[in-house]
This record gives sequence, C-alpha cells and structure tokens, in this order.
Amino acid sequence: MSDYVKSLMEAVKAKNPAQPEFHQAVYEVAESLALVLDKHPEYRAAKVLERIIEPERVLMFRVPWLDDQGNVQINRGFRIEMNSAIGPYKGGLRFHPSVNLGILKFLAFEQVFKNSLTTLPMGGGKGGSDFDPKGKSDNEVMRFTQSFMSELFRHIGPNTDVPAGDIGVGGREIGFLFGQYKRLKNEFAGVLTGKGLNWGGSLIRPEATGYGAVYFAAEMLATKNDSLEGKTCLVSGSGNVAQYTTEKILDLGGKVVTLSDSGGYIYDEEGIDREKLAFVMELKNVKRGRISEYVEKYPNAVYTQVDSSLDYNPLWNHKAECAFPSATQNEVNEKDAQHLLDNGVYVVSEGANMPTTIEGVNLFLDKGILYGPGKAANAGGVAVSGLEMSQNSMRYGWTREEVDQKLHGIMKSIHQTCVTYADKYGTPGNYVNGANIGGFVKVADSMLDQGVV
Ligand code: NDP
Repeated sequence: MSDYVKSLMEAVKAKNPAQPEFHQAVYEVAESLALVLDKHPEYRAAKVLERIIEPERVLMFRVPWLDDQGNVQINRGFRIEMNSAIGPYKGGLRFHPSVNLGILKFLAFEQVFKNSLTTLPMGGGKGGSDFDPKGKSDNEVMRFTQSFMSELFRHIGPNTDVPAGDIGVGGREIGFLFGQYKRLKNEFAGVLTGKGLNWGGSLIRPEATGYGAVYFAAEMLATKNDSLEGKTCLVSGSGNVAQYTTEKILDLGGKVVTLSDSGGYIYDEEGIDREKLAFVMELKNVKRGRISEYVEKYPNAVYTQVDSSLDYNPLWNHKAECAFPSATQNEVNEKDAQHLLDNGVYVVSEGANMPTTIEGVNLFLDKGILYGPGKAANAGGVAVSGLEMSQNSMRYGWTREEVDQKLHGIMKSIHQTCVTYADKYGTPGNYVNGANIGGFVKVADSMLDQGVV
C-alpha cells in the first residue's frame, strides 16, 4: 500500500467509522488511482479524490407508515447525492433490512465511476431504506413507498437527481413512487427510471443489467478468441439481475446451473432452460416465492439451504467456466474465489455491486483470469436508465432493437475503456484498474473545470 493510500484510508476510517463497505469501496479505487495520481499532481493538488469521497449531500429521514393491522411502523430513509460533476445524481433505491448509511455510501461512491464509464451525462447517487418488502402486502408496500416519497420528492427532479430500482425496488415500487411524486409535484416528469412502458419507461430497462453483464463477459472472452457458447455458468441471486443474466447466457449458447436467494441455492445439473426460467420469473416476480420451490417443480435439481456456520458459499463450489455473482455485496469471499478457480472458472462478470471481497479480487487478479468488476460489468442497467432519461426528454421511445443495440454498443465501449486504461497505466488485462481509472478521469477533469465546489 502506498503512503498516499495509507494516509487517505486512515482519514476515511477516522471520519466515517462503522462503515466497512464504504472503506472497502474507497480502498479498492484508491489503490488503482495511486497509479494516476503519481503521474498527475494537478489531481492531488486540487484534492479531487478527497472531494469525491465526501458526498455532496446526505439526506436521512423518518418514514412512518401504517401496516395492515393499523400499527404504526417506522423506517429510515436515505438519499446520498454523491457527485454531480458530469450530470444529475443518478442511482438506485434499495429496500432491504440491511440498508444503512455505510452501505448506501459505498454504492453511491461506486455509482460515480460506473456512470462516468457509460459515456452518458450522469452523476452518482444512491438511496433506499431499511424497509423489508418481503412478506408485506401490496397495500403495505404502497403506503410505505408513498411515505418515503413524501419526503424524497423535495430533493429530486429530472435535472437534479433521478433515482431507479435496486434490491427490493422493482416495477411495482417504482410505480408507487412515481405516482406519489406526480401527485405531490403536480407534474409528469422523468424523475425515476425503470418506469412502466405505458408511462415513460424504456424497453430493455428490466433486462439491461443482466444482459449488460453477459455482453461484458462476451467481450472479455472475445479478447481470447473465445465465446460463451457451450460454457457452464454459475449465477447467484434470482432477482432482476440474475433472471436476465440467465436469459442472455441462454441466448449466447451457455448453460446456467445455479440460482439462489437469501434462503439458499438450487443446483440444476441439466441446466435452467427457458421454460424453467419462465417458472423462476413467475415465482419471484408475481408469486414472490422462494427459490426452494424450484425443486418441487423440477425434482432433479438440488436445493441447499444457507448454512451460516460455513465460512464459504457452496454455490461457488461447482464445476463451471463462468461465474456471474448477481445477488449482493461480499457474496464471494477468498475461499469462494479459490473454489471458483479450483473448479475451472476463468470468467467472472459481476452483475451485483462489489460482490467479491478484496481478498477474493486479489486472487482473481493474481491468477490473471477474466475478471469484470461490477462498476464496469453491471453498468448496463444505469446506461439504459440514461437512455430512458433521453427518451423522456425527447418525449419519444426507441424500439426494443434500438435500445438493445445501444446497450450492446455501450458495454463494448466500457470494455474498451477498461482495456485502454489498464494498458495505459501498465497493468494490461486488469479490468479493476481500467474501470477505476477510466471512470475517474472524466469526473476528475470535470471537477477541475468547475472549480472548488
Ligand atoms: P432483486 O431484489 O431483484 O434481487 C436480489 C436477489 O439477491 C434476490 O434473489 C435476493 O434474495 C438476493 N439477495 C439480496 N440480498 C441478499 C443477501 N444479503 N444475501 C443473500 N441473497 C441476497 O435485486 P437486483 O437483482 O436488482 O440486484 C442484485 C444486485 O445487482 C445488487 O447488488 C444490486 O445492487 C446490483 N445491481 C442492480 C441493478 C439493477 O438494475 N437492478 C443495476 C446494477 C447493479 P431474496 O429474495 O431472498 O432477498
């Protein structure tokens, strides 16, 4: 660790105690940027990285609501407006009981670099609540989201801050949030992305993160004259990202053998084909059931419940060539990373945000496998959100093929940016450095242009 990174991290930890995920995200980026800052004293003199680490604004608010029994419930709402150097704040909302300030700050920090990589004019933000949608009725989810928006609406707008979905926030929640915003502001505006198609949404937005992660894997493989055809893939999660990752892997001739949720995972050696995937989509998106129900329908598959006494996740311990972590942060630790390598995995494309611990990442980098970090590999979601904003501004909608083609082009461009910057700073094939540096330079130069703000 360089002296600069060491002193930066000491300051970050002292100023932001009890935010381990934020420390982890900053550390990973700072390690890459040390290469740039050595060559560009102007960035260091203007304290660009130190400014990027400090959110422009943090909002934290009470969200009271009534459950179906008439009891008062109280959750905490957040919005982190991290950086607006290259565009309005943009990033998802997460509803999950684990949500806290540190987790949202790590996500907002990552988002700044990711959004810059997409080539679109979007700053970085993130928000959410410790509300748990699991087991809640539609009416409870609506009352909660309306209360959440009753505070958030003051702070967002199509030219200020444009939230989207993330864990626990899908089409249903975006609908309720949009309805309440419209009612409070008396304006029909493109203030959220991931909207329904009838009211300003973009085709391909639900598919975009998963499709993008697979396009990114295909680009990495193409550098070795290889493809996804015939490859066995491990996918975690069974939500939005996991579902469309699976769909695109099938399109490109691969085979998916795992999916999971917070209760456990299924292993289907025969492969999850389109019919089985349709069953999972219905199970998760409509019935809001558990992945364990998959083996009731397809008894040849095996369900393994989460065993919290284990220090690894057995999902990552199956023979495969590719892995697509698509559930949550730090779901692949050092031991999991070793299992992946031992089982023949040489492509990892992260649909989730920061799913691999620093030790796991270092193992992938040491072995020189094709490792696409989340801020590059999963940028397809926010990229199509950016395209949704453009369509809203034009009051016009592109076809499915047009949006998919633009998404594909953006993922190719992000891949190329990573390759270019990794090469330029003497670490060819290191997509972590490539993504961090490529994302940073545009934001940093814009901040220099705009003065000390
Ligand atoms: P969903 O809520 O649709 O699905 C999340 C999935 O991950 C569910 O299967 C969920 O299981 C599982 N999961 C969530 N938290 C945990 C946990 N703590 N432990 C184990 N499993 C967990 O979310 P998304 O698919 O949208 O998001 C998945 C990941 O992708 C997140 O890291 C998100 O930040 C990232 N991402 C999402 C984007 C998007 O466009 N949606 C864009 C870029 C990144 P369960 O149902 O049991 O909770």
